[in-house]
Amino acid sequence: MLIVMEQDSSPEQLEAVCARIRAMGFTPHPIPGAHRTAIGITGNAGPLDPREFVVLPGVKEAIAVSRPYKLVSRETHPEASVVEVGGVKVGAGHFAVIAGPCSVESRAQILEAARAARRAGAHMLRGGAFKPRTSPYAFQGLGREGLELLAEARAETGLPVVTEALDLRSLEQVLTFADCVQIGARNMQNFALLREVGRARKPVLLKRGMSATIEELLMAAEYVLSEGNREVILCERGVRTFANHARNTLDVAAVPAIRRLSHLPVLVDPSHAAGVRHLVGPLALAGVAAGADGLLVEIHPQPEQALSDGPQALRPPDFEALMRQVAAVRQALVA
Ligand code: PEP
Ligand code: MN
Repeated sequence: MLIVMEQDSSPEQLEAVCARIRAMGFTPHPIPGAHRTAIGITGNAGPLDPREFVVLPGVKEAIAVSRPYKLVSRETHPEASVVEVGGVKVGAGHFAVIAGPCSVESRAQILEAARAARRAGAHMLRGGAFKPRTSPYAFQGLGREGLELLAEARAETGLPVVTEALDLRSLEQVLTFADCVQIGARNMQNFALLREVGRARKPVLLKRGMSATIEELLMAAEYVLSEGNREVILCERGVRTFANHARNTLDVAAVPAIRRLSHLPVLVDPSHAAGVRHLVGPLALAGVAAGADGLLVEIHPQPEQALSDGPQALRPPDFEALMRQVAAVRQALVA
């Protein structure tokens, strides 16, 4: 159920409706809009009777929400949301590129990558300090030292930092350093972690699980919003299919499909979809053409020496060329 308040309704009327919802045993979620405030309701098992609410002073209408996800739905929030990460806006026409290495490996490596990202016009810096690796013997990330190096790279370049939290323990550390917490594909349905980032006051970059449907991705985002954190950016990073010419299959259709269902910004990660360098550029451009609000791209000053995901990392000059092509595609979209 979505309660839409009259444009001239008072804060007291809004609070009275919220109090009524709480008295019924449910949770009200006020959603301020450009013209009027709406209130989402969660916690109800079945449909609610709109007549209970339309009689309350200041209420314009009560609309039944048909989707299982409510707060992330376009039905409850028709305007596209803007998420701000360290002063950089994403969504509703604000396009942002997050670039950096898969993992933070050394001071020299992350500083060089950050400078290359900045030079090419990226808006944020990525780099994993806690890495989800298929093999327990593979490089697992520098941990806290990696976070400190990211902070140093941010201080030098001014780029806000996006980095992954693997579990509740690393989340605590990530929250003290990062501007945006990445929840990786393997953790998309780690509900305890989703609830915890939902309680945090930091933007979240939520990646689609490699076999997750759009609905499952949106339900995962709903966990975060339902805890009070509305700053969620979604990310399509490719899904598992029978195709073996790429690491994953970039689901380009997911971008317009998500935009139709949800107000949250959507990024495309061409790197983890591609797995190999030569596919990264074309997939990035396809994502932009499909309407993505930005990109998440892995770059590395010396990909052959990378400790993770080297084969898919763009070298700085290739990334610069890609950024020019991205600008051209974006220009073509407004024409
Ligand atoms: C990453 O961004 O480095 C990463 C591990 O991505 P994903 O969770 O999409 O596999
Ligand atoms: Mn990676």
